[in-house]
Amino acid sequence: MDYESFFADRLSSLKREGRYRVFADLERQVDRFPIARNYRNGIVHEVTIWCSNDYLGMGIHPELLTAMDEALRICGAGAGGTRNISGTNHYHVLLEEELALWHAKDAALLFTSGYVANMTALMTLGSQIPDLVILSDSDNHNSMIEGIRHSRAPKEVFRHNDLEHLESLLRKYPKETPKLIAFESVYSMDGDISPIKEICDLADKYGAMTYLDEVHAVGMYGETGSGVAERDGQRDRITIIQATMGKAIGVIGGYICASRNLVDFIRSFGAGFIFTTSLPPAIAAGALASVRYLKAHNELRIRHQERAATAKRRLAEAGLPVMPSVSHIVPVLVGDATLCKQASDLLLELHDIYVQPINYPTVPKGTERLRLTPTPLHGDEHMDHMVAALTDVWRRLGLKQRAA
Ligand SMILES: *Cc1c(COP(=O)(O)O)cnc(C)c1O
Repeated sequence: MDYESFFADRLSSLKREGRYRVFADLERQVDRFPIARNYRNGIVHEVTIWCSNDYLGMGIHPELLTAMDEALRICGAGAGGTRNISGTNHYHVLLEEELALWHAKDAALLFTSGYVANMTALMTLGSQIPDLVILSDSDNHNSMIEGIRHSRAPKEVFRHNDLEHLESLLRKYPKETPKLIAFESVYSMDGDISPIKEICDLADKYGAMTYLDEVHAVGMYGETGSGVAERDGQRDRITIIQATMGKAIGVIGGYICASRNLVDFIRSFGAGFIFTTSLPPAIAAGALASVRYLKAHNELRIRHQERAATAKRRLAEAGLPVMPSVSHIVPVLVGDATLCKQASDLLLELHDIYVQPINYPTVPKGTERLRLTPTPLHGDEHMDHMVAALTDVWRRLGLKQRAA
């Protein structure tokens, strides 16, 4: 086989479809968020970032940075092992305690990323619990899909947020059959939110466990910021809450929170937890400081929601096709992969605005979009600039505008 041509051919077809991914080469700057340096064609540009998942700007927060700095000086760089073999640092222990408290659960377990947390937890539950059936929302993140797939447990996919469809699938199995409903709270590409209470009602009725990915909600929803389950008063009804420390918390890593036995079970049987080096102590210290800060600062969440609402209103007033979203996510529809990439390129080249195109398979074909994520640090002047730039690019590309 001509291996090189195989790789090159596959890449060419991605490029033809406008789906080839090009990374923006960025240098984030602590004192200038959301402005960053962008290395492009041998020149350094200053760009405004409009698509960061550091949703609250915690990645540059002084309290977090100080905590990381201190832990780095005390403990050094790496953890030095897996959790079982000399890699459990005191910061891991403190962070797990804090996370469990935050989510009102008995216990928490850290992973090296949210992806690994989903993969490991779902794979372990699906492969270890005899006859477990996993019911999975059709819009679930790839990390959940892969975890379920690798568990080889029987799976039923319900239409996105469709309670009737979910119930019709639950009804197929006797009440005694073990079941797990896996879903997210905030879906990050459309910005919609799942009916957590109603899904928990169905779980009760049919004897199912619930697995909730709050990756795009932790830090941002609920009075203390632990997510939509907190906001909706449903935390105690969720069996397993999963989230990341890489988005609003501003660092990296993932976790689950659940009952003591369930967490101990994943700790004891989850390969993706057992056989890998634990997070660096400074990362755990940073996440700990971030969570403590987020718990106590609801005004950050209020400002965040206000910024998102303002961005949606400003875009709509300018006649730009902002998609309906009940969360902090602001998707703007383009509807074509090549045009979406062009719009993103023009925003960067002509206006120093960085917003990555979102194309298939991340979203369905025909719904390609720009996905804006205003943070509390995007001021009115950033908004003015962004709306003017999008309006200009929409005209240049002849994209559809709505009556303002
Ligand atoms: C980003 C993401 C993850 C993975 O989290 P990481 O910490 O980035 O690995 C899991 N679930 C959803 C819904 C995500 O968007």
